Amino acid sequence: MTTFRRDPADILAELATLREADAPTHGGHVLAYVYDAGMPELDALASDAAKLVQPVNGLDPTTFTSVAAMERAVVGFARAAFHGDDEVVGSVTSGGTESCMLAVKAARDAWIARGGEGRARLVAPITAHAAFQKAAKAFGLEFDGVPVDASTGAPDPAAIAERLGEDVAIIVVSAPSYPFATLDPIEEVAALGAARGIPVHVDACIGGFALAFQDGLPAWDFAVPGVTSLSADLHKYGYAPKGVSVLLTRGRDLQRHQYFATTAWPGYPVVNPTLAGSKPAGPLAAAWAIIEALGTEGYARLAGRAMRATTALRDAVERIEGLRVVGDPVGPLFAVATDESVGPDRRVDPHHWADAVREAGWVIQLQPALRQADGTLLPRTTHLTVTPVTESVLDTLLPVLAGAADAVRGVPAVDGGAVLAGLAQAAPGAAGVLAGGGAIDSDTAAGLLAAIGLGAATDGSGGSLPARMAPVLALVEALPAPVTERLLVELLARVVEPR
Ligand SMILES: *Cc1c(COP(=O)(O)O)cnc(C)c1O
Repeated sequence: MTTFRRDPADILAELATLREADAPTHGGHVLAYVYDAGMPELDALASDAAKLVQPVNGLDPTTFTSVAAMERAVVGFARAAFHGDDEVVGSVTSGGTESCMLAVKAARDAWIARGGEGRARLVAPITAHAAFQKAAKAFGLEFDGVPVDASTGAPDPAAIAERLGEDVAIIVVSAPSYPFATLDPIEEVAALGAARGIPVHVDACIGGFALAFQDGLPAWDFAVPGVTSLSADLHKYGYAPKGVSVLLTRGRDLQRHQYFATTAWPGYPVVNPTLAGSKPAGPLAAAWAIIEALGTEGYARLAGRAMRATTALRDAVERIEGLRVVGDPVGPLFAVATDESVGPDRRVDPHHWADAVREAGWVIQLQPALRQADGTLLPRTTHLTVTPVTESVLDTLLPVLAGAADAVRGVPAVDGGAVLAGLAQAAPGAAGVLAGGGAIDSDTAAGLLAAIGLGAATDGSGGSLPARMAPVLALVEALPAPVTERLLVELLARVVEPR
């Protein structure tokens, strides 16, 4: 006999219906956000492990000792995978953003402890993940994004060297970068940091658990002297469900700055290694179980599958007239831009291409062009994140990529300026707002979104993206960044407003 207001079967049926509207998380049709090992038995193990610890509070691993045991094992596995010795310590966090934020927080507090005064600076190639801009903002540092080569996306160590000074609390490099999959010049930059006593963080959030099991790469992890911390996401190529990442730090004293502790309140003494207080143990347990099941060999096998699929996809894209793979990508991801060496009628706009691919039932991710601080323009691109399961769908995916390019070859890119002019017409009086002339209130932002055709859905579906994303990305490129950012905040905030 149940005391529930609703039949549990009915509640779960409703959730199943909601899930049907989600992008598919398995099967390889979504080449972003999700990392499918193609092993249902691994997913089942992860969910069984998470369920076993569901009631546990990860806040206190001395009370819930299973948490300490699992965290020790996960940190130990990561430390070995990334060539750390026993001076390398670590924490399991809720995800890549938290790992990155904590690395910055620790470096900032170490900088202050060394006598740093005023505002600390974070130096990174502009291709460093946005999580570092978030960290800089949250912890009061200046984010100093160094321009990269506009055609390859590769940073120049000399350009980073020029930015170093007393106020630099941390340098961040990527292994590889998210936007273009560049393996940054980690040895050179780490040497610069070591010479000046500046911590150097390697962001291996996306690639870490794939690169670690791949041969033939230059040293990029703790094998490089001067690398002081490293982040790697278990919920990406670690194949764990979302909510788990690891942050490793060389040197206990540096790492202790990551912690927050206080006894200056009348409650229990607080000691937090991460941003959360009470926290779930489920994602940790899932990651731990997956590591126990796969081990180094299992991860190497999966990395091999993802890399074979990546090579096949890259080769296929290189053969498509009008497209090019950006730079020299490393790991199971890459970005695609227009090949400007062919005539305009043979070029393929990567955003039209992505929309055409999406129409055929596959999701690849649009990335806007970006004007760098030195005036050069990073091209608009489309991003592909390749997972082990991709290998088993290549036969259907490759023809889709080629066919989509054929369908849009020669179609000029959406003219952001024209979209903007149309918008100004649809929303007269908004001209000042669109030019970035000041604060935008929520209702004005919602009105502009409606004029663009991005208003929250009124049918209760929670809102969804338009069928074609190219015009939206063109607007992102054309509008002043603060305006776009404000509109995106409004879009996302309205999606979860109760109706
Ligand atoms: C995904 C990612 C992050 C942020 O991780 P989240 O898990 O999404 O918070 C940081 N850096 C890189 C390179 C990433 O790909």
